[in-house]
Amino acid sequence: MSALLFRSTNGQSPSVNLRAAFLAGQAQDRGLYLPEHFPQLTLDEIAEFAELPYREVAFRVLRKFTEGAIPDDALAAMCNQAYDFGVPLEVIERGVYLMRLDQGPTASFKDFAAQIMAQMFGLFLQEDGGQVTILTATSGDTGAAVAHAFHEIPSVRVIVLFPLAEVSERQRKLMTTVKENVRTVAIDGKFDDCQAMVKRAFTDPALQHIHLSSANSINIGRLLPQSVYYFYAASRLAQPGEPMVFSIPSGNFGDMMGCVFAREMGLPVRKIIAAVNANDSFPRYLESGVYEKISPSRNSVSNAMNVGHPSNLARLVAVYGGQMDETGKIHRSPDLTAMRRDIFSTSINDERTRTSLRDFWNKYQILLEPHGVVAWQGFLDWCAAEPIGSTPAVIVGTANPAKFPEEVEKVVGWAPDVPAAMTAGLQQPEDFDRMGPDYDQFRSYLLKAHASN
Ligand SMILES: *Cc1c(COP(=O)(O)O)cnc(C)c1O
Repeated sequence: MSALLFRSTNGQSPSVNLRAAFLAGQAQDRGLYLPEHFPQLTLDEIAEFAELPYREVAFRVLRKFTEGAIPDDALAAMCNQAYDFGVPLEVIERGVYLMRLDQGPTASFKDFAAQIMAQMFGLFLQEDGGQVTILTATSGDTGAAVAHAFHEIPSVRVIVLFPLAEVSERQRKLMTTVKENVRTVAIDGKFDDCQAMVKRAFTDPALQHIHLSSANSINIGRLLPQSVYYFYAASRLAQPGEPMVFSIPSGNFGDMMGCVFAREMGLPVRKIIAAVNANDSFPRYLESGVYEKISPSRNSVSNAMNVGHPSNLARLVAVYGGQMDETGKIHRSPDLTAMRRDIFSTSINDERTRTSLRDFWNKYQILLEPHGVVAWQGFLDWCAAEPIGSTPAVIVGTANPAKFPEEVEKVVGWAPDVPAAMTAGLQQPEDFDRMGPDYDQFRSYLLKAHASN
């Protein structure tokens, strides 16, 4: 069987195999890669997942994408290595569940993709003896997950940019205490500045001799692993073939695209709820059909979701038959009717986020954090708009409350315990560089880092 190819959402660059899509991060024409077609899983195959551990479900889903590109035994070994933590599905109330994706080494769902991506990078580079510099802009959690996952992967250097004033102390420490092949750079600016600097580096002719790649959710390697947990949850919580509702706290829409991928692959989904903070460009678009990015992005308590122009919307629009370029300009309109049928989106401001966090704790004695609770409140908004009936629903919990002790304590009155997996790293000394949102300075920094090796 021939390997799956990946096309660019901008339609100018030729399609490439998984390895090339992975190592490039972004297509030459600045589009994002999407599978040319979605491999299918039958309802029987999905039903079998109910009895399997997470790493085995991951293997069976991912191999649909990796066939012909990664040998099965290598993939199985990667899944075993990556997924040595649990994926709890807690009952909130009858038929409504919390999927906790916060048990990985940096206590956010970003670990699910970063862990396996690092292994795949390692394998691909080992095959051709190459060297890669991974550039990552982070609003908090990606940087930590990527730093931990790629730490000590041979032939990979990682450079993480983060907005100094926008990340929590624990988020920062989870990145800046990882060293060796990982460098962190604090930018005196916003997440948008970090993202713009990274994007510019990718197309900078002066950096062409450095092989740059990305571990942000522009990389297709981020999205494939993020489809797995939707299958995992459905196999355990729904009857075979029964559609579910998933509510997903969204920033760059990579997590939500994982769910879209799962549905395209055959998972029955009644509704995807894309719950956002004050950065509401998507719910507005869904309502009006006119896309206007938010610039600069708005600060909020769910800081990992402070994204004014979610890059994955280009993929979403493409799945629905349209075309959006990297600036957010729509060249061909997607099927908005179908999009509205499949997806509900709502914006939850900080005040509602805090109130909801407190109410949720008081009502269920389950502690959420500022991101997961946006998904919960988004779910309530959807229920008010459309009777749920007996459809099972999953709220996606994307981070551990201990990552945001300041916010959580302000609202519920006490600070959550730090998970054991996080404590060791937090005690190491921090080390990071610092610069303004100045591209020329960043270019010199990259050139120097490259020359030093
Ligand atoms: C990154 C992140 C999100 C948003 O995920 P996207 O894929 O960017 O939409 C939500 N919650 C937490 C805790 C995150 O770290």
